[in-house]
Amino acid sequence: MKNIQGTCLCGRNHLAIKEYGNFVYSCHCDMCRKMSAGPVMAVDPETSDNVELALDEASVTYYQSSPEVERVFCSTCGTYLFWHHLERDHYCMNAELFPDIIKEANFGLQVFYDKKPAYYDYSNETKRMSSTWEEL
Ligand SMILES: [Zn+2]
Ligand SMILES: [Zn+2]
Repeated sequence: MKNIQGTCLCGRNHLAIKEYGNFVYSCHCDMCRKMSAGPVMAVDPETSDNVELALDEASVTYYQSSPEVERVFCSTCGTYLFWHHLERDHYCMNAELFPDIIKEANFGLQVFYDKKPAYYDYSNETKRMSSTWEEL
């Protein structure tokens, strides 16, 4: 797919991925779960020049959750937009912003699986990686 559009819940912040397939993964880390009331479903646009952001600077908050990473969300509606690794200029974006991707998504990977609390589990067959990037 090309030129895939997404917005936050209130529509103030617009994001686009220039080109993407249908790969979706999930992160079970403590920060993602606390931030979003559950595991984050994410897409990985791979390179920053594959990402187009049209953010409303009056309605966006950049929260630096660790020295190298900022988490960005809409400060009007609260929607989590993306995770951005500052040094590597790498984005992982909220998959649920992009209806065209999730419509036919291939959910193939769970990361930080060792951090997943026991009370939920997906029945999907996926690859599972630990917080130290070992396959589980
Ligand atoms: Zn919003
Ligand atoms: Zn995470």
